[in-house]
Amino acid sequence: MADRISKEKRSWVMSRVTSKHTKPERLVRSLLHRIGYRFTVNGPKNKNLPGRPDIVLPSRQAVIFVHGCFWHRHTGCKSATTPKSNTSYWLKKFERNIQRDRQTRQALVKLGWQVITIWECELKDLDAVAAHLIAALPRSPQFDLPEEIEDDKLVAETQASYTGKK
Ligand SMILES: [Zn+2]
Repeated sequence: MADRISKEKRSWVMSRVTSKHTKPERLVRSLLHRIGYRFTVNGPKNKNLPGRPDIVLPSRQAVIFVHGCFWHRHTGCKSATTPKSNTSYWLKKFERNIQRDRQTRQALVKLGWQVITIWECELKDLDAVAAHLIAALPRSPQFDLPEEIEDDKLVAETQASYTGKK
């Protein structure tokens, strides 16, 4: 019995293994690139700032977290379900995640950083995410859109996987 782990537990283990540079994060990076923001994903600030942010925009003093709705408990989101078995285990784990996110945010704000959270479910509408980012991080008026899209194929693929269209 000891080596039998539930499907949920297993997917949790997998999500830990692949937690860095998962598809949603790559999608946001590609979107940022497309709308012309400079950012780091492996810089010293990604490693040293509280919460080790996925994406850091050093010149903006801003960080972006791409949060999975299930793990980080997106309020009111239909992906933020609670497993029916081992419920107390899950609730404890979720509570810890929420606490950690809150502490991370507070620590970053205290250090003068702007914290932007993008929820995985929001990636269904990349235009809305782009609008949100541009509102949060105003650009200079002389900014020109880059011609090249870094990762067209990835964007198309991911959009298809979210909308169910192939
Ligand atoms: Zn969500």
